[in-house]
Amino acid sequence: MRDTPFLEIWHSSEVLQRLRDRSLLSGACAGCGNKYICGGCRARGWAYFGDIHAPDPGCINNRDYWESLVEHQKK
Ligand code: SF4
Repeated sequence: MRDTPFLEIWHSSEVLQRLRDRSLLSGACAGCGNKYICGGCRARGWAYFGDIHAPDPGCINNRDYWESLVEHQKK
């Protein structure tokens, strides 16, 4: 940030480009009609699944993913 203008980082960063590309989403987020408005929380996808494109388990549409996480915690 000290050496590169934010706008240049915004356009050139591979991670930021991938975060903006909603076609890369998975789970219910991938086929959701709201993905271009919402897109889910990418931080939660990363935190729970280690993938910035993973489904957001905090959304009711991804309830199956949340329940599998809960089941996994019980084991
Ligand atoms: S978090 Fe929920 S509402 Fe948002 S894109 Fe994903 S499935 Fe759709």
